[in-house]
Amino acid sequence: MGATLEIRNLHVSIDGAPILKGVDLVLKQGETHALMGPNGSGKSTLAYALMGHPSYQVDAGQVIFNGADVLELEPDERSRMGIFLAFQYPVSVPGVTVANFLRSGINARRKAENPDDPGISIPEFRRLLKQKMDLLGIDHKFAGRYLNEGFSGGEKKRNEVLQLATLEPLIGILDETDSGLDIDALRIVAEGVNKLKGPGLGILVITHYKRMLEYLQPEYVHLMMDGRIVESGGPELAQTVEDHGYAPFFEKFGLEATEE
Ligand code: ADP
Ligand code: MG
Repeated sequence: MGATLEIRNLHVSIDGAPILKGVDLVLKQGETHALMGPNGSGKSTLAYALMGHPSYQVDAGQVIFNGADVLELEPDERSRMGIFLAFQYPVSVPGVTVANFLRSGINARRKAENPDDPGISIPEFRRLLKQKMDLLGIDHKFAGRYLNEGFSGGEKKRNEVLQLATLEPLIGILDETDSGLDIDALRIVAEGVNKLKGPGLGILVITHYKRMLEYLQPEYVHLMMDGRIVESGGPELAQTVEDHGYAPFFEKFGLEATEE
């Protein structure tokens, strides 16, 4: 049976202001979901709350992963369980290479599963890393770069996808927060994620880029408005948003239109 992430009636506030007002979402290993919605609807808040960011106060609701109460766990424990959040390590770490970072991530996962695990051997890790970089079309030199130091937007995205590929999480959550993401960076993420899609990986892509959805072809599409998932469906929902924007949904759900 595959791993399942269940978000039930999640309420989250920032500085006392309610942002998420009861989010329900079930994401299974092997499925690809997209979360769309206008700016300010709470998409990134959901991602930060799932990560365990301290500024995001969970007021009510539950997040269950394979029977465990995720909200009780530290961010690194969530990661070791196999929940990956793309922006988990946004800071640059001078002196730590991409390769070192990935190797310690793999070893942390292995140790969480078996405390006696001696860790991945260097030759085995090199083979794995090369294989993943080749799969994703990433130059091998990238592995020797210091993590996030001077990374361009595209390189940060490459790094995210390479993390996703090598850490092999059960559930991957990618928030395309950067509104300045250029076409290349978008393509890096979309093509990379497409190659990683498979029965072992559940994906939640948070995006307002139509192009991303065209590349990714998620089976499930969710629409978030005013801190709730107001509608869920298949690719036709993304198409409706593309054709008509969010205005009809603001009207349908009796919400005040913000921006699109
Ligand atoms: P989205 O990702 O859908 O654009 P966000 O989750 O970033 O939406 O934001 C949802 C709401 O929360 C917005 O009204 C935003 O102004 C507010 N918000 C987000 N981050 C913060 C913060 N750090 N402090 C205060 N308010 C915030
Ligand atoms: Mg956002």
